[in-house]
Amino acid sequence: MSKFVLIGSGLAGGLLAAYLGRRGYDVDLYERRADPRAGNFVGGRSINLALSTRGIHALEQLGIADEVLRHAIPMRGRMIHDKSGNLHFAPYDRDPNKFINSIGRASLNTVVIEAAQRYPNVRVHFNHQCTDVDLDSATAHLIESSVEAEPALSDSRTGVSPADAGHQIIQKGDTVIGVDGAFSAVRGAMQRRIEDFEYSENYLAHGYKELTIPPGPNGAWRMEKEALHIWPRKSFMMIALPNPDGSFTCTLFWEFEGPRSFATTKTDDDVRRFFDEEFPDAVPLMPNLLEDFKNNPTGSLVTIRCAPWYYKDTVALVGDAAHAVVPFYGQGMNAAFEDCVVLDECLAEFPDNRERAFAEYFARRKENADALADLAIDNFIEMRDKTASKTFRAKKKLDHLLEGLLPGVYLPLYTMVTFTRIPYGAAARRAKLQDRIVYGSLAFLVLTAALMMIRLIV
Ligand SMILES: Cc1cc2nc3c(=O)[nH]c(=O)nc-3n(C[C@H](O)[C@H](O)[C@H](O)COP(=O)(O)OP(=O)(O)OC[C@H]3O[C@@H](n4cnc5c(N)ncnc54)[C@H](O)[C@@H]3O)c2cc1C
Repeated sequence: MSKFVLIGSGLAGGLLAAYLGRRGYDVDLYERRADPRAGNFVGGRSINLALSTRGIHALEQLGIADEVLRHAIPMRGRMIHDKSGNLHFAPYDRDPNKFINSIGRASLNTVVIEAAQRYPNVRVHFNHQCTDVDLDSATAHLIESSVEAEPALSDSRTGVSPADAGHQIIQKGDTVIGVDGAFSAVRGAMQRRIEDFEYSENYLAHGYKELTIPPGPNGAWRMEKEALHIWPRKSFMMIALPNPDGSFTCTLFWEFEGPRSFATTKTDDDVRRFFDEEFPDAVPLMPNLLEDFKNNPTGSLVTIRCAPWYYKDTVALVGDAAHAVVPFYGQGMNAAFEDCVVLDECLAEFPDNRERAFAEYFARRKENADALADLAIDNFIEMRDKTASKTFRAKKKLDHLLEGLLPGVYLPLYTMVTFTRIPYGAAARRAKLQDRIVYGSLAFLVLTAALMMIRLIV
């Protein structure tokens, strides 16, 4: 059986190793960080994430969805906090049984790694950082270190920084798969060696910082538990997702530079003033605000597109390594999990031709990853600005009304992306068409009514 060398055991790496292990392949999975189960989990990405239909489907195929969802908190809609502390709840769907799930990144990572390790043909090696890949021979160059080689968030743009001390390992497989995230070393090797490799990275002008609302007395949640909280403030926003221990993880998405920005908010007074002005109802719930603000890193938000996602039958990319998106649709991980399902299907369809399987996988996913990248950027504007408006809330109500009146015919975009497995590209196209028909018809009705009124008056 062919041997796969996987680089990166983040969310998609562990899951992919389990899929490949189930298919009987020999798998060696290398991760630069220490084993998260030893209490060494180092953040750098969000502490919790929204898991929805696509991700759940990928977990179900391996029989581990229940294990993951046991620790999840349902989020049934958006709880909008205005500047006066007033709250408006907007359900995600007309069906109250459709909700997204807040799950801890560390516990999900552990479940997928353990799922992979149930297969005796899968081996997981922590503290191994990939520094290069020889594409033709499917050989990964790694540095083993007992000290974790963790680039700081702020310097993650520079990519791989080999651990200072550590011993070098060369691991040859039949295929190397880069599941090593947005700053992928495997993709770096493809960029350097494939002549017409397409690559683009676009950073938002906004960064993000995680803050905490600790649990109330007896582990109680101090805001509505089953909601994704949003403080939309036009050019920026804060969100909060619930955790099982009664806390909320808040994320502030804010401009890096500008008159009011991360760059200009340095002193305790600056921070306090900004939060008092913008998030007055959250401040009393955040006793560690100043320490969190000072000590937690400010992360950057990047969209990465590249092509192709494979080289012959020896190298392929999965998850953020192939298509990092900004987090505003809550779909990056869900899409990475969907990659694993599609790659597994392609390997099953072409068991004797891996290059064909990789080409099919790329063809089926690329358009959809590109569509998701655009949807995610659009949703940032929707979350930080439009959710605060009455027009937006009316549009959501109209969406749900039409969905009820035309079941199976009209599906709101958010529903298609979050609660179905309709490919992202098809969902985006269908939503545009629906909007054209609905708003075209509305415009027609308004115009007809206006003309009739004029005829009656004149
Ligand atoms: C603030 C924020 C909030 C988000 N919220 C959501 C959400 O709600 N829902 C959602 O679906 N998605 C969300 N995402 C996106 C999600 O985090 C990513 O899409 C997902 O983590 C991608 O999984 P991955 O396995 O491809 O990459 P990662 O999870 O980044 O894993 C990559 C792994 O590779 C390892 N690695 C990197 N380089 C090397 C190397 N050279 N050698 C060895 N190992 C290496 C890393 O240590 C890491 O463990 C969010 C992202 C951010 C930044």
